[in-house]
Amino acid sequence: MPQPFETLLTSDHCIKCNICTAACPVAAVTDRFSGPKAVGPQAERFHRPGTLTAEHTVEWCSGCGVCSLVCPHGVLVAEMNTIAKARLAERQGIPLRNRLLGRSERVGQLGSFFAPVSNLPIQNGTLRWLAEKLAGVSRNTAFPRFARPSFQTWFKNRGDPLSAGFRKVLYFHGCATNYYEPPVGKAAVKVLEQNGCRVIVGEQNCCGLPMQSNGEFRAARSYALANVRKLAPFVRDGYLVVGTSTSCTLALKHEYQSVLGLDGEDVRLVASNTYDLFEFLLLLESEGRLDTEFSELPERVAYHPPCQLKSHCIGHPAATILRQIPGVQVIESRAACCGVAGTYGLKAEKYQVARQVGSPLFREIEDALPSRVACDSETCRWWIAKHTGREVVHPVEILAEAYPG
Ligand code: SF4
Ligand code: SF4
Repeated sequence: MPQPFETLLTSDHCIKCNICTAACPVAAVTDRFSGPKAVGPQAERFHRPGTLTAEHTVEWCSGCGVCSLVCPHGVLVAEMNTIAKARLAERQGIPLRNRLLGRSERVGQLGSFFAPVSNLPIQNGTLRWLAEKLAGVSRNTAFPRFARPSFQTWFKNRGDPLSAGFRKVLYFHGCATNYYEPPVGKAAVKVLEQNGCRVIVGEQNCCGLPMQSNGEFRAARSYALANVRKLAPFVRDGYLVVGTSTSCTLALKHEYQSVLGLDGEDVRLVASNTYDLFEFLLLLESEGRLDTEFSELPERVAYHPPCQLKSHCIGHPAATILRQIPGVQVIESRAACCGVAGTYGLKAEKYQVARQVGSPLFREIEDALPSRVACDSETCRWWIAKHTGREVVHPVEILAEAYPG
C-alpha cells in the first residue's frame, strides 16, 4: 500500500490525458471546480516547497474516487486531493460545521441515547432552516433517524446463540449501523451465521473517514490507530474483519496507509484481513461453503454500487450474489456517483452540486421501476431515498430475507 509521499509522487506519472476530468462527476456539473487533473497532479507540482500554491478549487472535490479509478497511469488523484485539503485545513483552520460533520460517532452516541426525542429537530423545517443559516448544514439534505437501542446493545443482549463456527468473523459495523440502521447489522449477523461463521463484534470505533475527508488528519489518525490496536489482536487470533459499510472497510484496507500515512505490522495485518461482507461471501462461495438454498423472492432491485465500493477494486459482489436468489432481478446502475460523497452533500454550499451529480442515477432508478433500491453505502442510501422517494436498503437485508427464519 503506498504511503502519502508515494501517493503524491504519482503526480509525476500524469500525462495530462484528461481522462479523469472527463470522468469526474463534480467537474461535469460545476465550473467552480477545475477538475481532478488540475487540482490533483497539476497542482501538486506547485505544492512542493518553494513553489506557489494553486489550490483554489480543491475544496469542491467530493472525494468520490472516480478519477483514481479511471486514471490509466495509477495517479492517486482523489487521495492526493484529500491530502491537499488537509494541508489547506492546517493553514486556514477547519470550520466548526466540518468538525461536527466529522464526529459521526459522537453525534450518533448522543442522538441514539436521546431517541426518539433527538429525531424531532430533524423533522422540523424551522430548525433545519436555522441549522442552515447558523451552521451551514443544508436544510434540504438527507438526514437519517437515530435508532434506539443501538446495534451494539442488541448484539450484547441477544446472548451467544452460536458457540462454534468454521470461520471466525469480527463484524465491523461502523457508526451508521450502530446508531442509525441496526437492521443492517442484524441482517449481516444472520447471513454470516447462516453460513457457519462464529460472529463477534468486539471493541471498535469510528473508522475516522468523516474526519479525514473534512481535513482533520490528526483526529482521523488517532481514531485509525485506536481501531488498529483493537482489531489486530483478533486478527492474530484468526478472525477476519468483515464490514457492511464500504467506506469503513476501504479506510481499514487502504486509506489508513495511502492517505493518513499509518504504517507498521499491525496496520498491514488489519488491512490485509479486512473484507467487504459480499466480497467475503464470494470467498466462501469459491470454497464451496456459501449456503445457496435461497427461498424465492419476487423482487426487482435497482442496485447502485457506491464509489467507495468501486475503490475496493473487487467488482460488484453484492450484485453477483443477489442474482443467485430465485425471483430476484437486479438492474445495475451505470451512474458514476450518487453525489453525496459522505458529508459533501450535507454542506449548504455543496448541496446543489451534489444533487446534480446524482441526477443521472435518480433518473436511472425511476426508469427501472424497481420494487426496492439497494446500495452498500449508508450515506448514499439516505441520499438516494431522499431524492427518489423509494425504499433503499443494504443488499444484505435482501439476502437475509432469502434465508429461512
Ligand atoms: S487520467 Fe491520470 S494521466 Fe490522465 S490527466 Fe488524469 S491523472 Fe493525469
Ligand atoms: S475524487 Fe471525484 S470529485 Fe474529486 S476530482 Fe476525483 S472524480 Fe472528481
